[in-house]
Amino acid sequence: MEREVLEFDVQFVGAGPAGLAGAIHLANLIARHDANVAAGTPGEPLGEIAIAVIEKGKRVGAHGLSGAVLDPRALAELIPDWRAKGCPVACEVITDDVYFLWETGQFRLPVLPPILQNHGNSIVSLGRLVEWLAGIAEEKGVLVVTETAATQPLIEDGRLAGVRTGDKGVDKSGAQKPNHQPGADCRAKATVLCEGPRGTLAKALETSLGLTVGRNAQVYSTGVKEVWEVPAGRAQQGRVIHTMGWPLPDDTFGGGFAYGMDDSHWALGLVTGLDAPDPVNDPHGLFQRWKTHPLLRPLLAGGKPVAYGAKAIPEGGWWAMPKLAADGLLIAGDSGGFLNGARLKGIHLAIKSGMLAAETLFECLLAKDFSKERLAKYEERVRHSWAADELRSVRNFHQGFAGGLYAGMVSAGIQMVLGGRDPFGDRLPSVPGHEHMRRLRERHRGGKPAPQKFDGVLTFDKLADVYLSGTKHDEDQPVHLIVTDTSVCATRCREEFGNPCQHFCPASVYEMVPDESKPDALRLQINASNCVHCKTCDIADPYQIITWVPPQGGDGPDYKDL
Ligand code: SF4
Repeated sequence: MEREVLEFDVQFVGAGPAGLAGAIHLANLIARHDANVAAGTPGEPLGEIAIAVIEKGKRVGAHGLSGAVLDPRALAELIPDWRAKGCPVACEVITDDVYFLWETGQFRLPVLPPILQNHGNSIVSLGRLVEWLAGIAEEKGVLVVTETAATQPLIEDGRLAGVRTGDKGVDKSGAQKPNHQPGADCRAKATVLCEGPRGTLAKALETSLGLTVGRNAQVYSTGVKEVWEVPAGRAQQGRVIHTMGWPLPDDTFGGGFAYGMDDSHWALGLVTGLDAPDPVNDPHGLFQRWKTHPLLRPLLAGGKPVAYGAKAIPEGGWWAMPKLAADGLLIAGDSGGFLNGARLKGIHLAIKSGMLAAETLFECLLAKDFSKERLAKYEERVRHSWAADELRSVRNFHQGFAGGLYAGMVSAGIQMVLGGRDPFGDRLPSVPGHEHMRRLRERHRGGKPAPQKFDGVLTFDKLADVYLSGTKHDEDQPVHLIVTDTSVCATRCREEFGNPCQHFCPASVYEMVPDESKPDALRLQINASNCVHCKTCDIADPYQIITWVPPQGGDGPDYKDL
């Protein structure tokens, strides 16, 4: 098959905050250098440098989802006049509350720990933010390519030489359709992976490049979010609410958020740890219950949800960050674990990581040297940045919750006083989240709980919510959820865990349906076209036999305002 070969100097995989910030910063550094040389500073101009950003969504922002309260520190470094330039901020944070919930009531923390204070931060939609950043990148000459999924790393002599993008126009059986278009080989002197959490290429390279050797296991949560439109005046612009406790069991990490975007829109969601012991842990169902709490219900009265989405969140922190540089490769953003779980924020760290990658690549361009030794300076840059200071200060935060919510709160408080150190050591270990999952019988002696009911007013089932995510996939394409052995689903998994994929997937992709070929048997049915690309299944499956791979470029959710 003839494939187009595209040559770039630098390419970023993923048009999220890390990739776009990296591309903009690199373009700025090159332009400043060339202007200085033109003005007489000794040196050679760099001239035309080809920078590309490759994005699988149908448009930039279509797959972008976050809470989100933005700490503007990194954005101000990237674009000092970001406000004047029209950055699409919904509003500034005005009030900031943290509540501890139980089923029928709540307690508001009288004093907020500094780490949870949001004064000076802004409420944003990540989708809108990255759409705006993409426009700036394009003005600077960066090529932003959408509807293009990077599916395979191109490795040559142990070096990442680029990425192969997925074919389009392939049918379910893998045969070419009349509209078949082969993917391209995108080659670059360096490739920056900013694919989001549990990146496909980063996962594929993990073993061969030893990216996670000596690191803590990365652990994740799943964030499920809706945007609600309510009667004017019912939402409180600039109000930030965070909750702990109900409906999450004490042994399940997570919490809720509601952010007033304007006087008629709330952005709200629940983050649920994927290291929960309950095999019927259901981030979507828990979020629906959370909305029925007496604190939340009145805020949403008379309104309706207008957008839905879900995404995995890397919670492992400093010790779980992978090796960030290898031959031909840098890793930034969520793919690199740049997330402060204690502050519930990652956008500023993603932007900063992209900028630090750009500074490293700029030096490579000046030196005409993209060797792994020079690329490794990115790790050094990260270590000496404020991003590392911030991440180190909460380096044991998530691990502290291994003993449950109350132990975690005590541990977080002590760690805050000790600058991130835990009384049990400077580096608490972690194990992959799926290893915490207990057998169904251990957890639910009487069998699975009854299925949750939804009223269609305040609470919605997964399919109703998927509709709000705008998700679309061409149904006649290979299934993008690879289950290596489906016999496990019908036998061991059904017996031991009760098929948790049916519960943890927030989009009803996995169903156990009667197997017509065998009496009383069930088989796995994968409704791949519902998939909102959250990666939860790739992470939470107890047998680790599910691999999420990108479907045809342009397919997937079409998030708006998330
Ligand atoms: Fe998320 Fe996997 Fe379900 Fe897709 S199939 S929505 S990636 S859990």
